[in-house]
Amino acid sequence: MSLNPNEILKKYWGFDSFRPMQEEIIDAVLAGNDTLALLPTGGGKSICFQVPALMMDGLCIVISPLIALMKDQEEHLKSKGISVASIHSGLTYYEVKCILQDAIEGDYQFLYLSPERLETKIFKELLPYLKVSLLVVDEAHCVSQWGYDFRPSYLRIAQIREALPEVTMMALTASATEEVQKDILVKLDMEQAKVFKQSFEKANISYSVFKVDSKFNKLIEILEAVPGSSIVYCNSRKQTKEIAELLQLNKINADFYHAGLSSEERTVKQDLWVQNKLRVMTCTNAFGLGIDKPDVRTVIHFDAPECLESYYQEAGRAGRDGKKAYAVLIYHSSDIEALEAMTNKRYPPIPTIKKIYQDIANYLQLPVGTGEMQYFDFDLHEFVKNFQLDPYLVSNTLKILEQEGHCNLSENIFFPSRIQFKIDKESLYTFESSFPELESIIKTLLRTYQGIYDNSTSIFEKQISRILRIPLEEVRSQLERLNQFGIIEYLPQKEKPQIYFLLNRAPAEYLHIDQDLYFKRKKQYQYRLEAILSYILSTEICRSNYISNYFGEKTIDRCGTCDNCLKKKKSSINTKQFQTIVKKIQSSFLSEISVTEILNLFQPEEKEDIWIVLKFMESEQQISISEKGMIKKGAH
Ligand code: ADP
Ligand code: MG
Repeated sequence: MSLNPNEILKKYWGFDSFRPMQEEIIDAVLAGNDTLALLPTGGGKSICFQVPALMMDGLCIVISPLIALMKDQEEHLKSKGISVASIHSGLTYYEVKCILQDAIEGDYQFLYLSPERLETKIFKELLPYLKVSLLVVDEAHCVSQWGYDFRPSYLRIAQIREALPEVTMMALTASATEEVQKDILVKLDMEQAKVFKQSFEKANISYSVFKVDSKFNKLIEILEAVPGSSIVYCNSRKQTKEIAELLQLNKINADFYHAGLSSEERTVKQDLWVQNKLRVMTCTNAFGLGIDKPDVRTVIHFDAPECLESYYQEAGRAGRDGKKAYAVLIYHSSDIEALEAMTNKRYPPIPTIKKIYQDIANYLQLPVGTGEMQYFDFDLHEFVKNFQLDPYLVSNTLKILEQEGHCNLSENIFFPSRIQFKIDKESLYTFESSFPELESIIKTLLRTYQGIYDNSTSIFEKQISRILRIPLEEVRSQLERLNQFGIIEYLPQKEKPQIYFLLNRAPAEYLHIDQDLYFKRKKQYQYRLEAILSYILSTEICRSNYISNYFGEKTIDRCGTCDNCLKKKKSSINTKQFQTIVKKIQSSFLSEISVTEILNLFQPEEKEDIWIVLKFMESEQQISISEKGMIKKGAH
């Protein structure tokens, strides 16, 4: 007998109930509706497609923009005994073919796909043979030109939709303004979709913004006042390291994280942080994706992000457990000037873009008319050094080239070692008899990796070392020897960012850049920038309201817990009264007192004022108030 959604949830995840809206979304999908779901980060979007997919017969295709996210979900599902594979830029043609063939055989329940893979011939050829039950577009805001994270390869999704007209489609995102929501429905050709939208308000998060002379001193002050797990976002990799070191000098348990670290280092640091062995992670925005840590008490922005979408996503990593948490942005007046100058930096002049395009092609030694759908190792650092360019200018140019559909630079991709045999079977036997010490490794390669004779294949030295019971180093050196003898081609593992050319290299002067779109995107960027600037600079608005209004939600009630709301409440009592109450509260107890006892010290009609003062003192971390109504001096 087939299970219902609740039973699936219990069986695979062990959860007893759905979160708000999950069930409605799942029901809509099961009823065959195309569905757009807008739930905040951490709201549980994955379950909204994973549960119905497990109830449907066939394959669920999930399109996801980042390999890191894909891998996380793949591992997560595998750990639940669910069969899943993913196809991204780290795989060869042959590997992709094998996965697709297995998928046709019905070996997988989920297939994760990088959007740029949709265009490949092999995928298009085999798509009609796949029995697809559900087509999911995760991070669907990437399809909108006007969104903050446009990825042109997402536009190809509509094409596979055409090939699968009967299949139910689902789009999910955490951050989309109304304009972007509409755009998603149009671009994914799902205008009839049911739309589910959860409130963007998070009652347990208190937002605040501080203008300071020393950002570092303020950071220390916050970390000392609010104990518990913390994320500190910075704009540059260099700064993540410097700040972590300064924090360590101040005896705060901190470490740094950015995309320039090896995947091993990143995993180690992330695990320590998740297990609360590391308290503060100073990081770039590369940190946090796919991490689900419930007890983060502070998310501090040491540098302001360029749009509210990013800010909301990052700040939303605080307080997932529903307990009180703080999202704090610290800035210096010079930061505002820098932000204001961003638009022209983000959108360099068109001739500059063309020149850098040419430099890249020269660096890659890519002749005009070649390169389409190919990956190249691209070391940004080496490139800017060789061509004496500003790294920031180059990375912005690359973003524009990506938006124009020319090429894109990926995150670090881990490529396992690869091997292909170079000689015919007969010569191999002769070789084996002359070098018997290499016979076992040859046999192991042929036995363990199907197809290795005809195709370049990923191998894992560790696996071979386990099978042969010889040290890893010995495996590597034997493979090197086979390589030198010309028996195999051995490409050791690497981890490098890749540049992917969607189109053949054009002569720079003919490089097509759509001016209208370029200027419209630039304007949109400016609009987003202005929105975050006014978030930062406003001393009146309720910050929580401001954010939800930005995402098209009509909320009017003030949150009462952001810095501006607290200031406003405070100003309803005059300063003198306020100070008198603060003093009286402070002097009324040594370490702990109940709220009721405090209230008893005052007249009943003063009750509301006392609440305001207590809230204010709590936000200033002079006191903490427990859920049971006990007041303690200092924070927690
Ligand atoms: P999103 O994609 O919306 O950012 P995820 O799908 O990654 O969020 O889910 C965030 C976390 O919430 C995951 O750890 C998930 O297991 C958990 N979660 C989702 N739904 C439920 C539920 N009904 N009960 C308990 N935990 C849930
Ligand atoms: Mg998600």
